[in-house]
Amino acid sequence: MKRLAILGSTGSIGRSTLKICESYPDRFTVVTMAAGGNIDLAFEQSKRWKPKVMSVAAEADAAALRKKLEASGIGGIDVVHGTAGTVLVATHPDVDFVVSAIVGVAGLEATYEAVKAGKSIGLANKECMVAAGEIITAEARKQGKPLLPIDSEHNAVHQCMRGGRLDEVKNVWLTASGGPFLHTPAKDFAAISVRQALNHPTWKMGRRITIDSATLMNKGFEVIEACRLFDMPPSQVKVIVHPQSTIHSLVEFNDGSILAQLSVTDMRLPILYALTYPERVESDLKFDVLSMKKLDFYEPNLDKFPCLRLAYEAAEAGGAKSISLNAADEVAVAAFLDGQIGFTQIPEVIKAVLDETANTHPESIKKVLECDAHAREVARQVIERKEKSVTKVLSH
Ligand code: MG
Repeated sequence: MKRLAILGSTGSIGRSTLKICESYPDRFTVVTMAAGGNIDLAFEQSKRWKPKVMSVAAEADAAALRKKLEASGIGGIDVVHGTAGTVLVATHPDVDFVVSAIVGVAGLEATYEAVKAGKSIGLANKECMVAAGEIITAEARKQGKPLLPIDSEHNAVHQCMRGGRLDEVKNVWLTASGGPFLHTPAKDFAAISVRQALNHPTWKMGRRITIDSATLMNKGFEVIEACRLFDMPPSQVKVIVHPQSTIHSLVEFNDGSILAQLSVTDMRLPILYALTYPERVESDLKFDVLSMKKLDFYEPNLDKFPCLRLAYEAAEAGGAKSISLNAADEVAVAAFLDGQIGFTQIPEVIKAVLDETANTHPESIKKVLECDAHAREVARQVIERKEKSVTKVLSH
């Protein structure tokens, strides 16, 4: 029986993980959970799974949840909150396996502490690898515990990597759907609206990751994630556009063989793989080979999608540059969603922040978070300057 902590239990990966636990009650038990601000769902999950510890984001929400549980006669659940609460969930002594699926840097500290506490990790939080990949993978190597990727591309790479040794790998090929603007002419990019950008062709996801898929920054983050997870230089991690998203990624070995991983586009599969690794278990997530009529591949256009170029530069530099890349992107995407900046200004803001970031390598999670906060501040200033210049032009 594997005893789980789920960081981000009310999010889409968290809910898919609980579906797996539901399907395999003899294999997995949920010991602790961390939710965000969705207290109704946190209450339902507490009732269903009776975790030893349930953490929520805010103190007031913790108090509300405690009251609700008490009123329903449900006892024995320690309700905690904030970063300290998430760390408690991630490092609980009864937990063997931590599913890290909190979005953003909020999950960073808990994930690092879980690795340090010798837990096995299923990693769905991209920011952990982008902002602190060097620190977290070094600690995991020291602990001799696996970091199992749940992101579909990296999960595919992990599976293909079992076909050879790391020093036999020539290239890793991350597939990208290309997003909704794959065939949009460059001249129309400036006029892209929020509604158009939120309309992703193959995956239904959160708002930020949907915009990141439209700019290809999501793929850029995945390049950095792959470099850190598999200890490879950016020059060996390639991106290939594959609109059908049937092949989740490929690994090319030095003899010329290429292994690919194909499966249904359902996140339960990578989660199940991570949870049962190195075993494989029977599932109902079958892929119909005959449904595969056409597989297209294109080289990504870096002029139309400069975010991908910026990500390669940050992957090469590592440290503060990759922290800034993530922080600036989050602020820029929020500003785009708010109508403060246009679609093509997202990479402009990120580039300006990267130019202002010194090429340093923070050595602790605390320093990473300081660097992250600073980059966000710089990004907000850059956006403010842009807004002012627009206002000036309009008033003339
Ligand atoms: Mg992905």
